[in-house]
Amino acid sequence: MIVQRTAGEPDNHSDIRETVRRLCEAFPGEYWRGKDAEGTYPAEFVAALTEAGLLTALIPEDYGGSGLPLSAGCAILEEIHRSGGNGGACHAQMYTMGTVLRHGSDEQKDSYLPGIASGDLRLQAFGVTEPTSGTDTTALRTTAVRDGDRYIVNGQKVWTSRAEHSDLLLLLARTTPLDNVERKTQGLSVFLVDMREVLGNGLTIRPLPAMLNHATTELFFDDMAIPASSLIGEEGQGFRYILSGMNAERILIASECIGDARFFIDRATAYANDRVVFGRPIGQNQGIQFPIAQAFAHMEAAALMVAEACRRYEAGEQPGTQANMAKMLAADASWEAAETCMQTHGGFGFAREYDIERKWRESRLYRTAPISTNLILSFLAEHELGLPRSY
Ligand SMILES: Cc1cc2nc3c(=O)[nH]c(=O)nc-3n(C[C@H](O)[C@H](O)[C@H](O)COP(=O)(O)OP(=O)(O)OC[C@H]3O[C@@H](n4cnc5c(N)ncnc54)[C@H](O)[C@@H]3O)c2cc1C
Repeated sequence: MIVQRTAGEPDNHSDIRETVRRLCEAFPGEYWRGKDAEGTYPAEFVAALTEAGLLTALIPEDYGGSGLPLSAGCAILEEIHRSGGNGGACHAQMYTMGTVLRHGSDEQKDSYLPGIASGDLRLQAFGVTEPTSGTDTTALRTTAVRDGDRYIVNGQKVWTSRAEHSDLLLLLARTTPLDNVERKTQGLSVFLVDMREVLGNGLTIRPLPAMLNHATTELFFDDMAIPASSLIGEEGQGFRYILSGMNAERILIASECIGDARFFIDRATAYANDRVVFGRPIGQNQGIQFPIAQAFAHMEAAALMVAEACRRYEAGEQPGTQANMAKMLAADASWEAAETCMQTHGGFGFAREYDIERKWRESRLYRTAPISTNLILSFLAEHELGLPRSY
């Protein structure tokens, strides 16, 4: 039996894992199935995580959090996904908070982080993607124009998840027109927008029904006025700030993928042992057991890459290559496990009550978001292999 390797070795965070497992027992498949069918937000689950202090694990103790390293966040998200749940309802707080922590002013940190740590304030929404620019972030069209002691924001975001369940929005907008900057990565700025102040007053949030229950939305900014104090760090440096948070985001999401892969492999194995067809367990057939074994091997390899990316991150490196590889390999491994689990279950894989089709839909997201596989491959080709930039 292989000892379960996890992100962040050598500290496996076994106590935290146990706490998360126990908490998740109160939120079984039936709970998630109901939320999925209704398309409603798992508010009770998020409240329980907040109550247990798990959502604020990465906030420093000075601001009321637990001050734990990234690997603790990885352990929490992996266990949620392994249990059959979905951390997508709340995972963003773990990585968006890092941008405020690293680049925000003392005043911003003092005014927001304690509230986030206590659960009174939610920073769950991250507005980067736009309908016209797609992955080409620097081509985004949302503008924020300084007007005395405020900025006036105009534009649109798409796929801004959890905006209806968040008080704060981390927003990327252009503050200097593309024509006036030397490099297109310049002139973008990050704002911490208090959506409670502008909802219905320059900000419109419209739900965007999707293949999975992800509380995702479209945002419309129509002369939305926000205080100049909403700016994070220096004007024009926003792209750099967003990039600096992306390694943590990739590593945390890769951990969710590992959790999903473990869920699918657990379920596929149990079903392959139980289901008897032609007078023997289907798992006795190599056509059934080999794909599960292969998915297991790929998941273990991906978990090692997640652990390595996390180790480097915690050592103070900027492990862009490892974080991207971890996210890609983990997303591929979870999708392979999802497909294998679906196939192992035959027709019953399609029955809602088994939770396989729901998890299959949910796990597919991570080959596309927060960054799609092609973009990771082009990053590796250019930055690791020295091949010409392809875009
Ligand atoms: C459920 C869900 C939740 C999301 N939540 C958020 C959120 O909270 N905040 C947020 O900002 N965004 C969010 N996103 C957006 C997500 O990050 C993007 O969908 C993702 O980054 C891909 O961008 P795109 O959809 O614009 O694809 P596009 O950029 O239009 O690309 C389409 C396809 O073309 C490929 N492609 C594009 N250019 C190239 C190239 N040069 N070479 C090779 N292939 C290329 C891409 O890999 C992709 O496969 C979410 C998306 C979904 C589906």
